[in-house]
Amino acid sequence: AKQGVEADGVEFYSEDMNQGMQERMRIESGLRQALGNGQLTLHYQPKFAIADGRLIGAEALVRWTHPQRGLIPPAEFIPLAEATGLVVQLGEWVLEAACAQAQAWKLAGVQPIRVAVNVSAREFTPALPARVADTLQRYGLEPAWLELEITESTLMHNIDRVIGIMDRITAQGVTLSLDDFGTGYSSLSYLKRFPIDTLKIDRSFTTGIPNDANDCAIASTIISIAQQLKHKVIAEGVETPEQLGFLQRSGCDEVQGYLFSKPLPAEEFERALRERSWAQ
Ligand code: C2E
Ligand code: MG
Ligand code: MG
Ligand code: MG
Repeated sequence: AKQGVEADGVEFYSEDMNQGMQERMRIESGLRQALGNGQLTLHYQPKFAIADGRLIGAEALVRWTHPQRGLIPPAEFIPLAEATGLVVQLGEWVLEAACAQAQAWKLAGVQPIRVAVNVSAREFTPALPARVADTLQRYGLEPAWLELEITESTLMHNIDRVIGIMDRITAQGVTLSLDDFGTGYSSLSYLKRFPIDTLKIDRSFTTGIPNDANDCAIASTIISIAQQLKHKVIAEGVETPEQLGFLQRSGCDEVQGYLFSKPLPAEEFERALRERSWAQ
């Protein structure tokens, strides 16, 4: 009987794996189709200067509305898109959509804001700077209105090549920020060589403020690293006035989080802009 249970267990396990693989293949082909059929959209989350509450930009975050499964969060499909390489096409779609939106806002006369686009390590190739320049030009956008958020995983291989790509992006006037800072493994000795505008304190550290002494220490340390290296620093995932207070006292420049706004569909974001819902 015991053997039977084990055999069942093994069978169940492999069936499970099989289902996992099938599920991934379904998501992958679904995502491939989603790139062309309007199931992807961008939501926009505002970023603010702590000193005066001024709106300084918005992060574009991709959303996938699946006809049967509803909203699938990026955490479920971005890693898969990265593993399969599909993230390159996804990234092209995101840059295109963000620039189209920025142009629409510009033409509609709404206050111009810098839009930040997340870029995966696999998209960070020597072809990226020209693609960025071409896209900006096609939409008639000033480079200063685009920011690219990259993660530490982008910086892990072939540093000189990465710096070359970064330089060709920032030379255009597009800014770079280092997302999820402190969660990956980046070398501080390289950090000073990167032409980066802003460090983003990861939400996992912000969450522990003000009660977790370690998270507070890490956040303060990231802020002083940024200050020493003459970078700006933004905290993501700010949800409470206590977190905001701590960050303000610690010298953080900018904030982003549910305390101010969740990521919003473009129409809602535009309405908030027009109604000046956010303190200027
Ligand atoms: P990220 O770039 O670090 O984005 C921040 C995430 O934190 C977003 O999750 C945002 O909705 C969420 N967030 C912001 N403020 C708060 C808060 O106060 N509380 C909580 N609980 N969450 C907050 P989202 O949109 O689910 O995206 C998750 C990740 O997926 C992003 O992390 C980014 O790494 C990736 N991602 C999203 N859109 C894109 C994209 O267009 N391209 C690429 N390559 N990656 C993307
Ligand atoms: Mg980001
Ligand atoms: Mg982030
Ligand atoms: Mg994050």
